[in-house]
Amino acid sequence: MPAYDPDNIFARILRGEIPNDTVLETEHSLAFRDIRPQAPVHVLVIPKGPYVSYDDFAANASDAEIVDFTRAVARVARDMGVDLDHGQGFRAITNAGRDGVQEVPHFHLHILGGQPMGRMVNLP
Ligand code: AMP
Repeated sequence: MPAYDPDNIFARILRGEIPNDTVLETEHSLAFRDIRPQAPVHVLVIPKGPYVSYDDFAANASDAEIVDFTRAVARVARDMGVDLDHGQGFRAITNAGRDGVQEVPHFHLHILGGQPMGRMVNLP
């Protein structure tokens, strides 16, 4: 696992050094709109703790952080109107490392929806 870079852009957002368009904040998680949205709904959900990727988070976060994050994802989907009780669904994506084409090395889940999301993967 690469060392966590405390100067990555999401760490700076968490420290309040960079503005963000927050949609939900909980004890252990933050959700904000992606700056370059790929769909009508495009929200990033991140843990506040210093985790590089999903596998890092799943292996090393506390149970409280994992429960908080998981419930935050469900709340974002509901609040954005894309959950299956109120909307037409969503896609959740997390990229990890080089082959996952991860740009920001702080674990984040993309919640995308508001239109049919097309093919799951488009390889070059
Ligand atoms: P990934 O390729 O999974 O690491 O995705 C990183 C995402 O972070 C991209 O969709 C970017 O548009 C988004 N992003 C980068 N900087 C910011 C920022 N300051 N605020 C919100 N989203 C950002």
